[in-house]
Amino acid sequence: MQKKWSDVDEYLVHSLIPSDTVFQQILANNHAAGLPAHDVAPNQGKFLQLLVEITGARKILEIGTLGAYSSVWMARALPADGKLITLEADPRHAEVAQKNIKLAGLEKQIDLHVGPAAETLAELGHNAPFDLIFIDADKPNNPVYLEWALKYSRPGTLIIGDNVVRDGEVANPESSDERVQGVRTFIELMGNNPRLSVTALQTVGSKGWDGFTLARVN
Ligand code: SAM
Repeated sequence: MQKKWSDVDEYLVHSLIPSDTVFQQILANNHAAGLPAHDVAPNQGKFLQLLVEITGARKILEIGTLGAYSSVWMARALPADGKLITLEADPRHAEVAQKNIKLAGLEKQIDLHVGPAAETLAELGHNAPFDLIFIDADKPNNPVYLEWALKYSRPGTLIIGDNVVRDGEVANPESSDERVQGVRTFIELMGNNPRLSVTALQTVGSKGWDGFTLARVN
């Protein structure tokens, strides 16, 4: 099935999303620097961008930068005085990301903080509340990131959690994978939180079988 999913993604991206040399160059830079290809797919990047546009978000928090591919998708929809703060633990990833942010001409809109997010998050209080928060880093820490996301939200804030299906393993309570267990706790915490109106969708495509959670803070 993977080939079919990838073929369909290729068709959709080719038909709907104008090719863009900046995004092509960002992916080429990531590849050349040996970064893992864990960036969102182009149609997912466009989906994130649409969420920014639909909500009129002006302040975005992203946890998990990699090479700033998703950061650039979202930041391009910000107004000139908007801000995206993105958090990355790996200095090598951050170095490539900073180069890509410059390439996209978004140094004014994107602030990259280097260090484990559980630590850098504590320094962001003066930037809160955020309008949109994208959680896409180390999955075992998702419950910690959810706590910060709720602290840094206002009614109407959108919280998106990526990679929550994990080839279907999310439905396995016995999984020995700490990423799966992190995502399961994240989902249970959201489901039990009356402050959140939340759903999750499975996705298939060039990135395999996965999915995301989408929550609105009440
Ligand atoms: N959002 C990116 C995109 O779509 O282009 C992909 C992010 S990738 C899935 C996850 C990133 O989180 C990696 O670059 C990894 O180094 C980073 N990461 C892992 N643990 C982290 C932590 N404790 N704090 C901050 N970032 C972390």
